Amino acid sequence: MLPALCTMKCPSCRKSVVFVHKSIFPLSQLVMLKTKCDVCGQSLKSERNNGGGINYALTVLLFIFNLGWYWPILGLSYKDNSFYYFLVTSTVVVVLAQPYLMRLSRMIYLYLYVSFGDSGGGDIHPDTQRQFPN
Ligand SMILES: [Zn+2]
Repeated sequence: MLPALCTMKCPSCRKSVVFVHKSIFPLSQLVMLKTKCDVCGQSLKSERNNGGGINYALTVLLFIFNLGWYWPILGLSYKDNSFYYFLVTSTVVVVLAQPYLMRLSRMIYLYLYVSFGDSGGGDIHPDTQRQFPN
């Protein structure tokens, strides 16, 4: 499941990429999902504008991850500016990784609601379908 998740594959058949654009550009369409999976027809579009909370959690995780490599390699101390440098470095890493984090959080959200083999074009949230006219 994890390789499929990281390569942005359909949660149901794990064969087709679920994003409209395989690359993260154009950035404005970064998280645009296909309406339905090309291969199995699993509906992908009817999710809420979600992933915000998951994205936040991933961002925090990335900060902790940065701490994990920054501390042993460059060292952290309250005696100099190293903590400040760490924050700057971490923020840059997080900003650069943000497009991928946004996609990953969408993927995680999809995987939470669609399980493997759950195809047939069923809606993920039938009750929220009305909010998405197309
Ligand atoms: Zn599929």
